[in-house]
Amino acid sequence: MIGDQSHYHIENDPEYSGLNVNQGIEPLPSVNADSVKRFLKNKKNRSLSIQQYVDGILNGDITLLSQAVTLVESSKPEHQEIAQDIIVKCLPFSGNSVRIGITGVPGVGKSTFIEAMGKHITSQGKKLAVLAIDPSSERTKGSILGDKTRMEDLSTDPNAYIRPSPAAGSLGGVARKTRETIILCEAAGFNHIFIETVGVGQSETAVHSMVDFFLLLMLSGAGDELQGIKRGIMEMADAITINKADGNNMEKAALARIQYLNALHLFPATESGWKPKVLTCSAYLKTGISEIWDTINEYLVLVKSNAYFQHRRNEQSKFWMYETINEHLRNNFYQNEQIKKLMVESERKVMKEEISSFVAAKKILDLYDQIRKNN
Ligand code: GDP
Repeated sequence: MIGDQSHYHIENDPEYSGLNVNQGIEPLPSVNADSVKRFLKNKKNRSLSIQQYVDGILNGDITLLSQAVTLVESSKPEHQEIAQDIIVKCLPFSGNSVRIGITGVPGVGKSTFIEAMGKHITSQGKKLAVLAIDPSSERTKGSILGDKTRMEDLSTDPNAYIRPSPAAGSLGGVARKTRETIILCEAAGFNHIFIETVGVGQSETAVHSMVDFFLLLMLSGAGDELQGIKRGIMEMADAITINKADGNNMEKAALARIQYLNALHLFPATESGWKPKVLTCSAYLKTGISEIWDTINEYLVLVKSNAYFQHRRNEQSKFWMYETINEHLRNNFYQNEQIKKLMVESERKVMKEEISSFVAAKKILDLYDQIRKNN
């Protein structure tokens, strides 16, 4: 027995022979140092407790925030379980922010605008998280924001956190992940959240349903058709900003402003009591940025005083509850192997007019009921 009793351990006893230490070998040249580092890092992550993540996030630790967001984005059930526990604990610390959606066709200047507006916000000592929804990112590979080096200033700003769009998936799935990421960012002290999306598809409806203010960026001299912006998207906007109002473009931008203003007059009054504004800016020259910021603040004063702000957030929470249920049911159904098999078979029969669509659907749904009963 060695030394004092309180430090006694069987393995320190010279008599102990439970452990044979073999001589080490040189690492194989094929072992890639980076992958080992990654492995060790992951191993370390795995051992972090939920509380460690939560404490880190609440302390504004960006590394832990990023790791938690990665868990949110993961499709592995074990990651999802941890992510959900973290979210539940962060939820009471979330909500205290301004959530702003920014949309517009590719090339309109979203990144440039976000950089300009973002710096305007962080220079006031405020913290800004920039997230994105781009369900098409699988197709385009480099996802929205992901490969953008233009937001150079913002990406090195300690008051800003930029997170690219989660990897492609269903819009519902991508949107849910972004919504959960908002919660984590808010808990980490980001009191301003930007959510960027490309204004060409369904994703702006999803973004609209998770933000307090929706900003549509447009260009002058191009009809709405050209810009691929649907009337419905214009109707969702709390403000339209005509970007690139600089150089030779100034006059055209001023004209476009009047045209959009006239178009907005034809839309029905908004539930919030807010009259959507049309502004011009040059994200490149950083002109008109503070006016847009003032407009957003003017809107916030109005909707906070007439309680629409809270009403909208409550409605959004309700919407996302149903969305989450729908998403879960859909996945559960469509990803079931037996269902998938019967669906292929039924589709073939329906196409050949061997059975009717309704009979086929009923058979598939009956099988689903059966599967559920057996589980
Ligand atoms: P995004 O695809 O909507 O994110 O657009 P980007 O921010 O990448 O901008 C597309 C192009 O327009 C880039 O070459 C920018 O430099 C340019 N751009 C963006 N904002 C302005 C602006 O206010 N004025 C001018 N003249 N060019 C701009």
